[in-house]
Amino acid sequence: MSPEFSLINEHILPRAGHGQGVILGIGDDAALVVGCGDREQVLAMDTLVAGRHFFADQAGYDAGWKALAVNLSDLASMGAVPRYALLSLSLPYDDRRTAWVAEFMRGWRDLATAEQVALIGGDTTSSPVLSISVTVIGERPARTLGMLRQSAMVGDDLWVSGQIGSAGLALALHLAGRDVPSALAQALHRPQPRLALGQGLLPWVNAAMDVSDGLLADLSHILQASGGLGAEIAWESIPMGTAVRAWAQEDPCLPLTAGDDYELLFSAPTGVRAQVLAVAEHTRTPIYRIGYLRAEAGICVKRDGQALVLPQRLGFDHFSA
Ligand code: ADP
Ligand code: MG
Repeated sequence: MSPEFSLINEHILPRAGHGQGVILGIGDDAALVVGCGDREQVLAMDTLVAGRHFFADQAGYDAGWKALAVNLSDLASMGAVPRYALLSLSLPYDDRRTAWVAEFMRGWRDLATAEQVALIGGDTTSSPVLSISVTVIGERPARTLGMLRQSAMVGDDLWVSGQIGSAGLALALHLAGRDVPSALAQALHRPQPRLALGQGLLPWVNAAMDVSDGLLADLSHILQASGGLGAEIAWESIPMGTAVRAWAQEDPCLPLTAGDDYELLFSAPTGVRAQVLAVAEHTRTPIYRIGYLRAEAGICVKRDGQALVLPQRLGFDHFSA
């Protein structure tokens, strides 16, 4: 288990306690609690730290957009409709903070308006490092138990939305001091949470999560949560742009282990392919069938019919060296 997840599983999870009305606690993209009438509430929180999740000199607009987007992505992966958000800003003591916050809120508002998310509270403090924490609250029909990480079944098709690796390539180019083409920069700084797709998929899908730490790392979370299943993927079927395919000539696993995609990864029975494709068409979201789930544990990625040797670390982990 990765260092980040051993911290959570060994020290946080065992002391979580039990509360009334908790349907699903720690361990998924969001928690589920009893809501009103035939709805359940869906809650998630994500933090972005300067120098870790975005560049220290990041435009305020992009930071505002992304802080909300990565949180809404967790709601999307549960098939939820977002409603409310809470925002905690920890800002360095610096003369530019007023202008930065104004820009931050412009980016936030553009996405919040499009997705009808109301900011209902938060906190503002000073801190040596710029840090943004967001909590989002949404809802979905009660008692569906769909789109959980633990619900994958042997024989399911494995699907992914959008394109994989674009944000990872943008980051790699930036870190190498090279120009970042605008389409790649867009993928890194302005991810589009797949809310409509997630909501449409809820009746059809078994397991789902959003790809934030790398396709292979996040797939391994679904496989482990579902009792130790395995997956076989055809490398050629993974959606990647031209620049990312060129990048993959260096190492075919680079795009599969880079983070920040914010696409949906989901498994569904083979019998609902037509319904899944209809949801994608209806919500105008490209999706791709990249493989299937099997009983034999582990991930096998085949390229030209040959299994690739996968790296030790399948994706981003906050506490790996
Ligand atoms: P995601 O990548 O979808 O944001 P994470 O991988 O960050 O999810 O977290 C995995 C699970 O652990 C989630 O259910 C999350 O709510 C939970 N979790 C992470 N850190 C903490 C914490 N400090 N306290 C309680 N739960 C936590
Ligand atoms: Mg997630």
